Amino acid sequence: MPDVFFDLDLITRYGGTGPRYTSYPTALQFTDNFKADDHRRFADISNKLAVPKPLSIYVHIPFCQTLCYYCGCTKIVTRNQSRVCDYLDNLYQEIDLQAALFDKTRVVEQLHFGGGTPTYLSEEQLRNVMKKLADNFDFLDTDDREFSIEIDPRTVSPDSIDVLAELGFNRLSMGIQDFDPNVQKAVNRLQSVESVVELTERARAAGFKSISYDLIYGLPGQSVESFTRTLDKVIEILPDRIAVYNYAHLPQRFKGQRMIKSSEIPSPDVKLDILNSSISKLIDASYEYIGMDHFALPNDELAVAQRTGELQRNFQGYSTHRSCDLIGLGISSISHVGDSFSQNVVSTAAYAEMVESGKLPIQRGLELNDDDRLRAAVIQQLMCFGYIDFDYFTQNFAINFEDYFAYELEQLPPLVEDNLITMQKGRIEITASGRLLLRTVARVFDYYSRDEALNERYSQTI
Ligand code: SF4
Repeated sequence: MPDVFFDLDLITRYGGTGPRYTSYPTALQFTDNFKADDHRRFADISNKLAVPKPLSIYVHIPFCQTLCYYCGCTKIVTRNQSRVCDYLDNLYQEIDLQAALFDKTRVVEQLHFGGGTPTYLSEEQLRNVMKKLADNFDFLDTDDREFSIEIDPRTVSPDSIDVLAELGFNRLSMGIQDFDPNVQKAVNRLQSVESVVELTERARAAGFKSISYDLIYGLPGQSVESFTRTLDKVIEILPDRIAVYNYAHLPQRFKGQRMIKSSEIPSPDVKLDILNSSISKLIDASYEYIGMDHFALPNDELAVAQRTGELQRNFQGYSTHRSCDLIGLGISSISHVGDSFSQNVVSTAAYAEMVESGKLPIQRGLELNDDDRLRAAVIQQLMCFGYIDFDYFTQNFAINFEDYFAYELEQLPPLVEDNLITMQKGRIEITASGRLLLRTVARVFDYYSRDEALNERYSQTI
């Protein structure tokens, strides 16, 4: 991969809206025609492969103690424990239903607890969920497994880090967003640097292999100077991975964001300045830019996976363990089994009603056709490794790349002229200044996003 270069002129001209390509086709193309029976059929096909793929499991724990005003996640802010207990009962029912579909010989190499706030659960509740999963699936028993959990530093004590390690987690990510007290106040999320340092040290001592911090730029009250102070503190602690997300202010869509005063949000120019200085600081501190908001230290497995061709893009952003079938558990979660995607219902009431009557709580999904499969692979190669190798697709998809993508290739000369990409015979490569506009380039190969009406449903590319 080339280094990353912040080119303000290109970003201003090309940085519109676009899909994040955590999947292709994206969730906007999922339909209600895809039913639980279709998911069952794909699970069955996946079991019958000569060498069935290992499994990856995502568990959605939607509960939070308080509302962070910027949040766009599927979450439930509550202190009502009985709601949590009911949800966990339903989750166990779903685990039974899903586990019955997959051969017991298929090992779980990857497990991720996300939310909401997984650490909203008590130690006993977390222990019970892990036991339920381990009783129903075959967890890989070696160091190669990647079991991660998102923690909220406000709901975790240093001692609970040891419990998470004992339960088998070996990666963790922490929501930081910003250390500036004024910004924290404006978004209703107060947490100290000291607690983050203490938890990180404890996690390192407990043997967690990769520690990741999430930051957000574009929050109310932020400036280049204030965010630089946050980054200085973060770099001092040196987590293995850092994600720097762009705050999308959509108060019509996310009620909590109405608590944020638009007048306090940094202007687009200031946001770009923050992004520019953040990239420089992180690169100077020897982080590698993986792509799309993600940075990692050179010896972190994400950076290694990018070098060795093992990186993938999925619903968690960038990830390793490319060759797994993904089972999503809990409300709103998405499964990706073979050539299919399926998404669970979002409401806890609908979720309860379905699993209690023995039905998989699937609301919608998609079966990939041949064209989807091919384009998914093209976009994946570009998003993960920054190039498209025509020969690879000619050999693996029995097509002539130039003929098949004649329309797309015709769209590329302006991107070459503007130095977002280079094109040599049989190969397209992203340039240093194109790396921040990866989604713009990927979009050329996205059949569905030719529909301009979708533009308003996509997020800002930068
Ligand atoms: S940011 Fe995390 S902790 Fe805050 S409301 Fe959203 S899901 Fe909950």
